[in-house]
Amino acid sequence: MSLITPSKNDAVQQLYTSAVPNSDAVSIGWTYPAPQNIAMSSLGYLSLFQRMDQNPRIRATQVSTDTLLHYQPNEFDLIGFSMSFELDILAILDIFHQWQLPVIAVERREHHPLVFAGGPVPITNPEPYADFFDFFLIGEGEDLLNELIETYQDYQKIHPTASRHQLLRHLAANVAGCYVPSLYQIEYASLSDGPITHIQPKYEDIPAVIEKRIFSRQEMAQTVTQSPFLTEDCVFPNTFLVEVMRGCAHRCRFCLASYSMLPARGPQLEPLKEAIRFGLQYTNKIGLLGALIADNPEFPELCEFLQHEMHQRPDLKLSSASLRIDTLTPQIAETFKQGGQQQLTFAIESGSERLRRRINKNLKQDKIFDAADIMARSGIKAMKLYGMVGLPDESDEDIEALGTLVQDLKKAQPKLEFILGCSSFVPKAATPFQWQPRPDNKTIDRRFDILNKMLLKKAKFRPSSTKWDFLQAVLSRGDRRLTQLIIRFHQFGATLGSLNRAYKSLCDEGATPCPPPAWYALRDRAEKDPFAERFPWDMIHLGVDKPLLYQEGLPPKSLTGV
Ligand code: SF4
Repeated sequence: MSLITPSKNDAVQQLYTSAVPNSDAVSIGWTYPAPQNIAMSSLGYLSLFQRMDQNPRIRATQVSTDTLLHYQPNEFDLIGFSMSFELDILAILDIFHQWQLPVIAVERREHHPLVFAGGPVPITNPEPYADFFDFFLIGEGEDLLNELIETYQDYQKIHPTASRHQLLRHLAANVAGCYVPSLYQIEYASLSDGPITHIQPKYEDIPAVIEKRIFSRQEMAQTVTQSPFLTEDCVFPNTFLVEVMRGCAHRCRFCLASYSMLPARGPQLEPLKEAIRFGLQYTNKIGLLGALIADNPEFPELCEFLQHEMHQRPDLKLSSASLRIDTLTPQIAETFKQGGQQQLTFAIESGSERLRRRINKNLKQDKIFDAADIMARSGIKAMKLYGMVGLPDESDEDIEALGTLVQDLKKAQPKLEFILGCSSFVPKAATPFQWQPRPDNKTIDRRFDILNKMLLKKAKFRPSSTKWDFLQAVLSRGDRRLTQLIIRFHQFGATLGSLNRAYKSLCDEGATPCPPPAWYALRDRAEKDPFAERFPWDMIHLGVDKPLLYQEGLPPKSLTGV
């Protein structure tokens, strides 16, 4: 049974058959911390819902911020959150309040459901949210989620009076990828301004390190993750989404999408074609998803297939996530042009070849001009570039190089529209740049200003918010001492200016709850000895050992001359 509750638009078309849940099925509220029209655009969230919905041992219900009051939390045995962004925690705290669920996990009583989170954020660093959740799922959910719920049910049947603590301990000991933060002891050099010195499980049967669960390469080759629903009321209206690649093998040193999803994998051509043909029975819009879709080894053949389909069906519309600029060919540009796309997006990060080498984005300048030329010839109207400001070893000259590059592109292709979107560097846990400091907000704003002036009347410039990026940087390398600060920040309205106010108000009450926000966001964590302190996320292993990550984050020999 599918339990979607329609919000504004009740025309949600389900493209698969649900299982009828058993009478003793485990009930789960599968919750997206945003309105339903956003949830309906998240392929990861929806495809995991489908897997649960097809399992008769599970009664799954989709919940979003605009449908949650249709339910009482106690209707569920488990409440699971899909967490894609650090700042999702603010919407999750709202949901706890609206449901009157205790915010702190250990304050929940036996009658409360167990509350957990999975997704890209908790996979890499769950620690700033450790006190809010009973457990986290570390890894790809395809097998993990169903296995977790079945283990939960089996244990409940044998031990119907087991306490929450016993149940959590059983899950942590028996489900690989289940991390229960309350079962770990964390020690600090100093609570108010010192790093972590020890991370230790409290019991012998609890793993010291949680290995990320991976959906196997073989299964992935044959299984296409695709839209289980279609609706007009979402970010990609009536678009059948198909995952063409998962992860990215290029390993740009800042890139969470790459390091958190290694190894890069994708489905083979035949299952992809089959999925697209299936989607085309219901809609004329196909969306190709993946960190880098052109890295699928059979992408040229996929383009051929799509061109053939468009020939048969001229109303077919095609959209894609961002492409790698040096993989653009006339065939790819033509495919997307034919599919109705007026703009293609490429992340180049920097205008300077030196800095691109520093971050392992080994992209030659002439490839960028070649791509603009290919686009102009194909008749596509706009080229959107993504840049990043504040990268390690960046100077003002590198920023000027980015402005000059966009100016020169405009000179070379005057008919093409150029848009430069720019974010600021957020050092992410589990990447080679996890040790690197983030520049202060003044430096970043000054560099955004340089770009703004250089691109006036030549290109559209869209910088991100420095203050929100700073908050992301606090959380991305944060630890569980941040709990009270997050709660107070949320109480103060979670506005751009309220982080420091929240920290000060906690300090004024007499206790310093955690180091100041800048200690988390801006600190160089390799200054003395890169391995002297334990990182909050050291109990999570995503597949690359810490010494190797550190080596990969150093400047390449071609730049240092060593
Ligand atoms: S090419 Fe793009 S997706 Fe791949 S590692 Fe680099 S930034 Fe990440």
